[in-house]
Amino acid sequence: MDFNYRKHSIVITCFVLLIVIFWIFSSGLFTNKLTLVESTNFLMSTSLTVKFYISDETEGETILKKIFTEAGEIEHIMEPLKGDGELQRINNSSSDTWWKLSSELKTVIDRSIFFYEKSNGAFDPTIASVKWLWDFENGGTLPSQKDISETLETVGLSKIKTKGDSLSLGNHGTKLDLGGIAKGYVVDRIIKILKESGVSAGLVNAGGDIYTFGKKPGGKDWVIGFRHPRSRKTIVIDTISLPAVATSGDYERYFIQDGVRYHHILDPSTGYPVRKCASVTVWAETAMDADILATTIFVLGPQKGLEFAEKLDNVETLIFFEKEDGEVLHEISKGVRDKVKL
Ligand code: ADP
Ligand code: MG
Repeated sequence: MDFNYRKHSIVITCFVLLIVIFWIFSSGLFTNKLTLVESTNFLMSTSLTVKFYISDETEGETILKKIFTEAGEIEHIMEPLKGDGELQRINNSSSDTWWKLSSELKTVIDRSIFFYEKSNGAFDPTIASVKWLWDFENGGTLPSQKDISETLETVGLSKIKTKGDSLSLGNHGTKLDLGGIAKGYVVDRIIKILKESGVSAGLVNAGGDIYTFGKKPGGKDWVIGFRHPRSRKTIVIDTISLPAVATSGDYERYFIQDGVRYHHILDPSTGYPVRKCASVTVWAETAMDADILATTIFVLGPQKGLEFAEKLDNVETLIFFEKEDGEVLHEISKGVRDKVKL
């Protein structure tokens, strides 16, 4: 009896001690006070926000400088038409030139090929020339059917040739546009800088491609909300174990002509905007994968897209789509079904 009593009080004392230790550390009582460092710049035709907590604010400013310099360099490499960056030079080269790729271009092109093959061509950055016909960057214009069919001849990632870290665009007039992947890639690169700099909690958001890690001081999670595609409502999600999330929607770059909505996510088999979804949100391990997969699932449509996501490990999705009468429905993968408040 006496022995049992002592055993109990030891267990209780240990338990109370553990709670006190946990409270001391999570309250930051004996740790340096953390300051929020935050900055937003316009890059890759979108706003790029970086937020993180650090004890030394001056060091935080140095890290920010490094981040935006690197993001600017990646933007320069991946800009498809303007300036004198790597992709611009490749796109404007004669078709049989072989190019040794930078590690940046190689990474995104390899991942594009991977998902192009997995999705039977739903994700295809050689949609470039067709996308430029639509000119969404300048408000958008409806191309002629003839221009679309002629330009479609250039589309098909299997038309480009790769060997090791070299690439040739082949002889079909094929061009590359990395608009469906570059933002996610840049987010991952920034996260790498933050983690390598010893930062323990941060958020990076490039136009809705978001990656978060760590907890805010006081142990709070980062809260992420995204837009409902047809209402002003913000959808908030509980924290899930996947760190990256990206959304592709038909409301981001679009114009309406004769009552029809034309937007910037194109079906590589027709050259026209895909009408199957209103928005697709994807959670994944990296922002690059989330970015690619949001576009890919958008092209596949709600049912095929959901099946596609369910087959991939560590990928979740929420797909909004509109019926002909305007009713908005959704599909949601198993792993986030009880995490999203709709
Ligand atoms: P946003 O850039 O607005 O975040 P997305 O991530 O969905 O939206 O990317 C859309 C961009 O992806 C387009 O502007 C275009 O550059 C590119 N794109 C459009 N359709 C496809 C496609 N089927 N496969 C690959 N990239 C595409
Ligand atoms: Mg995307």
